[in-house]
Amino acid sequence: MGGPLLVDAATGSGKTVATLAPLLEHAELADHRILYLVRTHSQEQQVLQETRAIAARMGHPLLAIGLAGRQRRCFLLESTAEFQSATAEESGKLCADRKRATQNSLEAGFLLQPAVELPEGASLDMADLQGCPYYARVLQADLEGLSDRFAQKLPSTHEFEEYCREENLCAYELAKKLAGRARLVTAPYAFFFHPQVRRTLFQWLGVGPDRVDLVIDEAHNLPEYLRELSSVALPREAVRRARSEIAERGDFALPDGLHATDLLDQVGRVIDDLVREFSGEEDGVLPPAALEEALLSSLGGTSHRLDTFLGSLVTWGEALREERRKARLIPRSAVHSVALALLNWPRLEPPQYVKVVTREPRPAVEAYAVDARAPAEPIGECHLSVHLSGTLRPMEEYRDALGLPETSRAISVPSPFPPENRRLFFDRSVSTRFEELQSDPDAVARLGRRVAEVLAELPVRTAVFFPSFALMEQVLASGLRDALPPTAVIESRSASMGDLWRSLEGFRQGPERGVLLGVTGGRISEGVDFPDDQLEAVILVGLPFPKPTAKREALRTYLDLTTGHGWEYCVLGPTQRGMLQALGRLIRSENDRGVGILLDHRAAQFSSVLPGLEPLGDLKGAVLSFFGAREGTKGDAPGPAGELPAPNG
Ligand code: SF4
Repeated sequence: MGGPLLVDAATGSGKTVATLAPLLEHAELADHRILYLVRTHSQEQQVLQETRAIAARMGHPLLAIGLAGRQRRCFLLESTAEFQSATAEESGKLCADRKRATQNSLEAGFLLQPAVELPEGASLDMADLQGCPYYARVLQADLEGLSDRFAQKLPSTHEFEEYCREENLCAYELAKKLAGRARLVTAPYAFFFHPQVRRTLFQWLGVGPDRVDLVIDEAHNLPEYLRELSSVALPREAVRRARSEIAERGDFALPDGLHATDLLDQVGRVIDDLVREFSGEEDGVLPPAALEEALLSSLGGTSHRLDTFLGSLVTWGEALREERRKARLIPRSAVHSVALALLNWPRLEPPQYVKVVTREPRPAVEAYAVDARAPAEPIGECHLSVHLSGTLRPMEEYRDALGLPETSRAISVPSPFPPENRRLFFDRSVSTRFEELQSDPDAVARLGRRVAEVLAELPVRTAVFFPSFALMEQVLASGLRDALPPTAVIESRSASMGDLWRSLEGFRQGPERGVLLGVTGGRISEGVDFPDDQLEAVILVGLPFPKPTAKREALRTYLDLTTGHGWEYCVLGPTQRGMLQALGRLIRSENDRGVGILLDHRAAQFSSVLPGLEPLGDLKGAVLSFFGAREGTKGDAPGPAGELPAPNG
């Protein structure tokens, strides 16, 4: 039976293996391929690990291949500084030229040697690199033999990449060639949802979508991912870069005499004016044709004249991209991107698109795609689709957002772990409700004092999640910082992945009463596992209601119109998911135990999704009865709440 199946099941419930085992059996019988879409590298590793275990039980070899972008797998260009910023399209063009050169070299009888290893920190000049020795090795490889070898061993993506590196084989090209022979292929979402990449992916797989069984992991992310993928932004900074690109190479006149730099100056001024006029603190809704009308009024003439100008800029940008490509540089042109965005702009119409201006994080005009149904359509072309998540509820929201049929089957699997392993409390004394924070000058400091009081009672590693970085910084500044242990780890929005993992390792290996501060919906609260005693308490400071930005309000209006459930789908659903994801860090296996404390009196309204939630009374007694007496680590315990300075002192 085909069609969509929605599965809401807690982490640790075995949903990956429960999905894969019958699917692999079905795929072998029907000669289908399983395409398993993942959000993160660690999910991909888990899928391959489970497949290895299932294959061992099946008793015969099974080929499973993990796909990843060139950014991670191109051994030739990885040491070139410029390559780090290339988009998938740009790195694809760079690679295509080198592959062509490789073919020619091989046909001419030249032998290509892999580049000598670079000393740490050094970088290559891309212009020096012609053909690709790693590709040459793939062309000469015994694919049959490699396919057998990988089917026997079922390497993880890391092991596959290591093998390729040792053998000087291009990991990207080899995975692509083996994908057609694999029963299971894992890939990031973009491989399937980006229209051009999808076409190529199906060529690699060698089958049509009707013979593909699709699995979407961490599916609760998908509607927002698709909205972002389909949205088009024109940042003010891109217009400035486009102007500099022309000024550096020599200005030129457009068809009726206006200079290209003058046109871009006017585009920049129009964006500045629109941001000033329509944006609130962060963003604002723009009347649908405001940008076009403002440009025409600034330039004079008709929309045909404007399109002619933009067409000339696109042609100029194409020529620059080609010139850079021939010089073996990244084929990029800011003029090309800006002119194309402006040419397409009038086609991005309501109700699927809402035009907005943003002031933060950067001044820009944006066509925000509120409709995730069109980019989700390829899901319905596959034989079947399984949508997996630990926080997919409310499942009607997910189904309606993607336009999946009402007949879609849905399964909700309760947590398999003993309910007594987790206790949940909510505190009636504080809240992050906007009106309360605005009207009470002591509200922020009171939150800080309450966090410190609770931390002082918890004898275990604890994560404290705030609804936003801004509020976390305010609460820290109000005095909480002084009450934290010196080893406390604080999530930073600008930290690199490497720095983040190093900090988390420090927290995991650190003192028993370690403290970690982060935000709900952030990289820690949604993507990191803390098994066993690595994390035993989570404090949620307030509820993670989404910020009422112009985009959020536009989405709510759209969902009201299309489903009649704007508030539930756009506000309550994401809040619920944010809480469950953050609290979900606590229990990852049947032996995990933990306490969740929600510092917000409004938490009671979510009791239907937080079974066992009870008001916080005697915290000390509750903690003692749950964890028993534990010795704190001297010097690392948070200071008593009284140590927090008063708001003005
Ligand atoms: S073939 Fe592979 S290693 Fe060579 S340029 Fe392309 S992606 Fe890079």
